[in-house]
Amino acid sequence: MVDRPNSPAFRDVAVNFHPYTNARKHEDKGAMVIREGKGIHVYDDTGKEYIEGLAGLWSVAVGFGEPRLVEAARAQMEKLPFYHSFAHKSHEPSIELSERLLAMAPGKMSKVFYTSSGSEANDTAIKLVWYYNNARGRPEKKKIISRIKGYHGITIASGSLTGLPYNHKDFDLPIKNILHTACPHHWRFGWEGESEEEFASRLAGELEQLILTEGPETVAAFIGEPVMGAGGVIVPPRTYWQKIQTVCRKYDVLVIADEVINGFGRTGQLWGSTTYGIEPDMVICSKQLTSSYMPLAALLFSDEIYQAIADNTAKIGTFGHGFTASGHPVATAVALENLKIIEERDLVGNAARMGEHLQAGLRRFADHPLVGEVRGVGMIGCIELVADKTSKQAFDPAGAVGTYCYERCQEHGLIIRNLGDQMAFCPPLIIDETGLNQLLERFGQALDETAQWVGSKHQA
Ligand code: PMP
Repeated sequence: MVDRPNSPAFRDVAVNFHPYTNARKHEDKGAMVIREGKGIHVYDDTGKEYIEGLAGLWSVAVGFGEPRLVEAARAQMEKLPFYHSFAHKSHEPSIELSERLLAMAPGKMSKVFYTSSGSEANDTAIKLVWYYNNARGRPEKKKIISRIKGYHGITIASGSLTGLPYNHKDFDLPIKNILHTACPHHWRFGWEGESEEEFASRLAGELEQLILTEGPETVAAFIGEPVMGAGGVIVPPRTYWQKIQTVCRKYDVLVIADEVINGFGRTGQLWGSTTYGIEPDMVICSKQLTSSYMPLAALLFSDEIYQAIADNTAKIGTFGHGFTASGHPVATAVALENLKIIEERDLVGNAARMGEHLQAGLRRFADHPLVGEVRGVGMIGCIELVADKTSKQAFDPAGAVGTYCYERCQEHGLIIRNLGDQMAFCPPLIIDETGLNQLLERFGQALDETAQWVGSKHQA
């Protein structure tokens, strides 16, 4: 970076403070500046091409540079670039999008509330749960249970739901009334000889115990991603969600599905909830909703919740919550067009078909000396690197080997994401067999080079 003082990478360091970045390392390294995108590829400021193996941030379903989304945004900008939805106002894009979302939603959803980000949508979910229980005359029923390694955002409340140390440490989180239960990762947390089924039953039992210890009259909701994303692409045992849901129903605890990564085909079905038989009371979606061309998230909720809240707003006079950009017309217009593309091009079907290819391809690395576990479903997967295959011992320090592998991937023209030593894959839903083969080949090269590097450090 030092030898390119006028480069965007250098200028970036002078002015930008980056999310999820080691600030001191960034001063040294400079920024990787991405200038353009087309299909499954992005190009940096030197013109180098990369396969975007994480679809940006698990989000660009239809790929980069989709002209129909550009046109949808342009047309809406021209017609009505902004209007709000406070005090009975509305506009057609948000109405049409809500109709579509409710028609395709998992479970019986009744209403849609829009925000600009997944974090805001999860904050709103918490506030709705609290408001709902106040409205129903149960002010003590407020605790929300999420999971260790779950990811739900970074605002003060949604960051509290998130079950990752980075998001709590030195931010003075979590706030009160947020509890965390066990992560459903059988390979890492299952006991010796415990089957996936037994593990799922044990976790449901632990949840029940937690609810009983806290007092069911104080526990309002359980929130989870059907398949965990940012916590390490953790695929739960088949029956985990059914068992969890049974416990929640028993104690009148709402089930909230955070579909921000899973939604719109990622698991090879429309929703992660469909894949795991979840019948949620609330659903949060974002990311693939607009393919992240515009910031937008949607919170869908059941009629039972709506009716209680609506009665209360009638008593108070208004519902005291909403964002300037709630249901933004350009964002909702882009989402609508994006969902039409997903349907017309059968991208959910493609995710299922190509997902099999991706999963089989990733599993071919299972015998590699650095690979502890290969996991995934549909078009999302993960390869966890370990110091010792047999004992599953993690690398110390955690993340250095994953970072090296991630950098080697970039060298070979592949962007993925290392969550510590967990290498995450989540390509655009439009990817075909050729693209996947290239992705797997580039990763294979990077993995072999990583093994050499680890070996050379051992000898040194
Ligand atoms: N929930 C899940 C499951 C997510 O993966 C994310 C983002 N990675 C969020 C919520 C938060 O979304 P945002 O970054 O838009 O606030």
